[in-house]
Amino acid sequence: MNILVINAGSSSLKYQLIDIANETMLLKGLCDRIGMKGGSLTQKTADGRSFRIDEDMPTHKEAIELVLKALVDKEAGAISSVSEIGAVGHRVLHSGEDFHSSVVIDDEVVRICEKNAELGPLHMPGNIACIKSCREVMPGVPMVAVFDTTFHSTMPPKAYMYGIPYSVYQQYKIRKYGFHGTSHKFVSEEAVKYLGAEHSRIIICHLGNGSSISAVKDGKCIDTSMGFTPLEGLIMGTRSGDIDPAAVEFLRVKLGMTPEDTVQYLNKKCGMLGISELDSDMRVLEKAISEGNEKAALAVEAAAYRIKKYIGSFAAALGGVDAIVFTGGIGENSSYMRRLVMEDMDYLGVVFDFEENEKRMDGLHVLSDPESYVKVIVLPTNEELSIARETAALVSAAPAMA
Ligand code: ADP
Repeated sequence: MNILVINAGSSSLKYQLIDIANETMLLKGLCDRIGMKGGSLTQKTADGRSFRIDEDMPTHKEAIELVLKALVDKEAGAISSVSEIGAVGHRVLHSGEDFHSSVVIDDEVVRICEKNAELGPLHMPGNIACIKSCREVMPGVPMVAVFDTTFHSTMPPKAYMYGIPYSVYQQYKIRKYGFHGTSHKFVSEEAVKYLGAEHSRIIICHLGNGSSISAVKDGKCIDTSMGFTPLEGLIMGTRSGDIDPAAVEFLRVKLGMTPEDTVQYLNKKCGMLGISELDSDMRVLEKAISEGNEKAALAVEAAAYRIKKYIGSFAAALGGVDAIVFTGGIGENSSYMRRLVMEDMDYLGVVFDFEENEKRMDGLHVLSDPESYVKVIVLPTNEELSIARETAALVSAAPAMA
């Protein structure tokens, strides 16, 4: 069965067509500038054929129509008819407290997503618009919502509660939710398979532009670093991560910003970009560090130190750790960041192989010494495949509901 995986933002839409029988990606593409002038679709097949359409897409509906056109294009597509799409998997940012796993989409699911849109105002409108458009343009094709949050729904209340009045939590659902769930799920499942043990305590470090860490016990998430929104936790590319809430108000007044601007500022202008006052991209920062840029060095050191502290606290939460896994653009590629994080970790039973860390790697790669009590692993994430797996599993389990 071919699964179309859709990851929609407010003005962009990424997609992949995956043949789930052998878990191969047939093609991937991007619709850019939805709702703006100068829209375009770019697509690339697994065998290297590229395709581009320059066309404005006033709404997500026109974007989906363009995607379907590109998928079946004689020269650049991968299928000859839309009927070859067995199901669509939609990445949806927020489940609220309503869903604890992925769901087959029906009218009620759409209604609940609309109710929860206020929890993710930047992403949810695009996610919902895409779901509605797909249902309109591809009637009868089963669709599944795969949430960024549900992998973390196994966190116990003591982990997800903030120190605020219980009634306020209940009324407004203000609590830790966690994000990047599709990645944490995929990577932890692969790590569990690799470890091959019945019981496991794993810390997943997903380090990309956005970064988060999760603590996974026997395959279930018990804690994670992101919170009510993806702003909490690590120092990321442009996000501040943890910060004293009182400092936020102080900063807002001093910089003369509105509350909305302040949240935007903490999301877009802070993190490693803010500290370095240079860039958010790890490759640019590494180059600057090699040229002696001290603020770039401080930005990366502060980010690494925060990761190290979360690893320590999650090891405590898990009651020990069997494996630490690095994934995401930085986790998979930056030996510099991994080295800073893993220095002086012998207290935890880690014997890190610093030479192995510097090697080029492709696929799962072990960075700990054979005698290390804790395994340290680099494991490439694949969020689209994770969504496709979930979609296929639900659609085959409940064809009648689809
Ligand atoms: P997103 O969160 O947008 O999915 P990615 O997981 O693609 O982001 O990660 C992007 C980050 O990975 C950027 O900071 C980028 O510089 C970093 N990165 C990618 N390749 C390398 C590399 N070879 N060395 C160091 N950092 C890298």
